Amino acid sequence: MTLKERDKKHLWHPLTQHQLHPESVAIVKAEGCTLQDEDGNTYIDAIASWYTCMYGHCNPYITSRVYEQMQTLDQVVFSSLTHEPAIKLSEALIDILPDNQKKLFFSDNGSTSVEVGIKMALQYHFNKNEKRNVLIAFEDGFHGDTFGAMSVSSLSVYNGPFKDFFIEVKRIPTPNGDNHEEILSQLKGYSAENNVAAFVYEPLVQGAAAMKMHNANGLDAILEFCKEKNIITVADEVMTGFGKTGKHFASLHLKNQPDIICLSKALTAGLLPMAITSCSQHIYDAFLSSDITKGFFHGHTYSANPLACTAALAGIELLKSDAIQNNIKRIISSHKAFGEHIKKHAKVASIRQMGVIFALDLNIQMERYGNLRDQLLKFFMDNGVFLRPLGSTIYILAPYVITDAELEKIYSTIEAALNNLSS
Ligand SMILES: *Cc1c(COP(=O)(O)O)cnc(C)c1O
Repeated sequence: MTLKERDKKHLWHPLTQHQLHPESVAIVKAEGCTLQDEDGNTYIDAIASWYTCMYGHCNPYITSRVYEQMQTLDQVVFSSLTHEPAIKLSEALIDILPDNQKKLFFSDNGSTSVEVGIKMALQYHFNKNEKRNVLIAFEDGFHGDTFGAMSVSSLSVYNGPFKDFFIEVKRIPTPNGDNHEEILSQLKGYSAENNVAAFVYEPLVQGAAAMKMHNANGLDAILEFCKEKNIITVADEVMTGFGKTGKHFASLHLKNQPDIICLSKALTAGLLPMAITSCSQHIYDAFLSSDITKGFFHGHTYSANPLACTAALAGIELLKSDAIQNNIKRIISSHKAFGEHIKKHAKVASIRQMGVIFALDLNIQMERYGNLRDQLLKFFMDNGVFLRPLGSTIYILAPYVITDAELEKIYSTIEAALNNLSS
């Protein structure tokens, strides 16, 4: 039996309707930007396995550092004990985060990093004897699949069945350059009528909303309003973090820095799962007390796993290197040239780009997980490129180590797919 056949016996895949999509492609090897399946077919990983392995798969620098670490210290409780990998990572990460970020709290994935951010914000007010229970979030946001994260997300295909159990959330549109006054008056209304605890948002690029991009000045105005009202600002940089927008973090494009930042995905360079929620000194200080119940009683068994910390530290070293920074610049200008070319195609409604994130919208309406979208996905796979269209949006978010030849192959495959659609 093939792996593909054995898979079907016991495995339940994420974000999958198994009656319609019973089969998965079995990947047996990954190296650099290439995935290889059990039949020997290869695919360019044009979305960096959900934007995680930005320095390439099985990057030898990262794997050797982790291999070395696992000979010395594998896993240890992170309550009352600490270790060098976490300490070194904290120093390296605080160094590149926005200046106001001072403390790091560990968890295991993007959803839990948001969950922790929401809980920090709620307990911050609780500790100050203020009752605040309402959150503000963007329309079309996505923040993960745990309950707090689902509450602030708005894509109903993911969270529809659970909506009766959510935290109360008020939604505002993303700033587009024309609607700033409207958003601010909506915010004023919400904060006058509710006890608003926090604003949770994906800064500048909303990943799961099909790489939707919004206006930086507009976001800055929202953050400024929140600061005035002591509404805690929680930036979900799970997707945007670690260089993808052209700066180390999307928040660094803005004047106002968030109180809390959520990190995962590329944090560990795609090698191991881990997440971090960072916060400013004033958030942390609100949990200091002689009363133990004012502490933050949240904890995951694998918090600050030394191997994951080592992968993250090695990843940050690569991110800061000239080699990776030059790659980022090269990809940005390469995408720009492709954008100029492809936006004239009859099937393209619009293009957008921020840093190494490139997206194009087709002028054909497609359901998020509909038939036409499935045909596109199959066309890409048949042509050796792993791209997952989000509805009628095709986006590229490839590892920083992608070569020019691999980029050309992604571009020409997208163009061939568009030509195919027109016939
Ligand atoms: C992927 C993602 C999450 C959820 O992360 P998981 O590791 O899948 O739980 C949260 N927020 C954003 C912006 C994401 O892209």
